[in-house]
Amino acid sequence: MSNITNLAKFKKQKLKQKNKAKTLCKSGFHKWAIIFKDKFDVKKGKLVTTYQCIYCDKTKTTYL
Ligand SMILES: [Zn+2]
Repeated sequence: MSNITNLAKFKKQKLKQKNKAKTLCKSGFHKWAIIFKDKFDVKKGKLVTTYQCIYCDKTKTTYL
């Protein structure tokens, strides 16, 4: 029985974290993870690194 209780607690905690993350994203504090590193963009003639927020899936790119 205790395992089930723990799981419920864990789920609740995770949900709380997700909500907190959403608030952070709304405020512009995204948690970026690199999905493409130093990919060459032919059009721009530059190296491109693409990031994606692990919470809201928003992407951003930076050029070198
Ligand atoms: Zn985000």
